[in-house]
Amino acid sequence: MEPAQPAPATSNISVRRGEPLVVVEHVEKHFGDLHVLNDINTVVNRGEVVVVIGPSGSGKSTLCRAINRLETIDSGTISIDGIALPSEGAALARLRADVGMVFQSFNLFAHKTVLENVTLAPIRVKKRSRKEADAKAMELLDRVGVANQAKKMPAQLSGGQQQRVAIARSLAMNPKLILLDEPTSALDPEMINEVLDVMIGLAKDGMTMIVVTHEMGFARKAADRVLFMADGKIVEEATPAEFFDNPQSDRAKDFLSKIL
Ligand code: ADP
Ligand code: MG
Repeated sequence: MEPAQPAPATSNISVRRGEPLVVVEHVEKHFGDLHVLNDINTVVNRGEVVVVIGPSGSGKSTLCRAINRLETIDSGTISIDGIALPSEGAALARLRADVGMVFQSFNLFAHKTVLENVTLAPIRVKKRSRKEADAKAMELLDRVGVANQAKKMPAQLSGGQQQRVAIARSLAMNPKLILLDEPTSALDPEMINEVLDVMIGLAKDGMTMIVVTHEMGFARKAADRVLFMADGKIVEEATPAEFFDNPQSDRAKDFLSKIL
């Protein structure tokens, strides 16, 4: 384990697992008149699991998309591993390869097999041989418990299995960070735990993760930190125990009273 770092000024958390990996400073984003990200500042350290929660429309997905540069920002900076997010070109493609993204709706390629879904980017972007990519993909599919589905098409799998394939696909690029935006929200209740268990395994293995979720059990078990967003702002930043047991703001108290 890496030594603990002193807390940056933006957070009240004193124990840090590693070096800063994602640094978000003074990020602003508008959609027309809507101020969707309002002076967002946060640091995610290597090996940290950060859960982002907050009411619908508070800017959680936009923040994730900005970190992966699927969305531009108006001002401020986002850097990953010390490199500010470029706006385009090969440098952006490289940085994006370092950031895995898992969406609520799985977003698997419908006309490719499960195995091809996982090998496509390593072969195209990382120029891996098919043999090498297949071997790594099978290892990852095994890790998420769906190796026996490798030859099937996504539609033949349950939602929980598809989401686990999506996680394996993001891991195949050896990302420095994985963003998961409500990864279990589209799943039937009985499939939620199989996906959360995979995520808990990744957290234990030291994967850096930013997870938008309302799964409080997961947050309590796996998160180092909770960011509570409302109206485009980070309203609270605390450990899960602090946040759930003793929320500070009326917005957070109100939100928690509705979901707990
Ligand atoms: P959350 O993920 O917290 O529910 P989002 O980041 O998806 O919130 O959205 C924040 C606000 O921005 C919402 O009001 C949403 O309608 C709006 N919004 C998101 N994407 C766009 C877009 N591409 N164009 C215009 N408004 C958008
Ligand atoms: Mg969202």
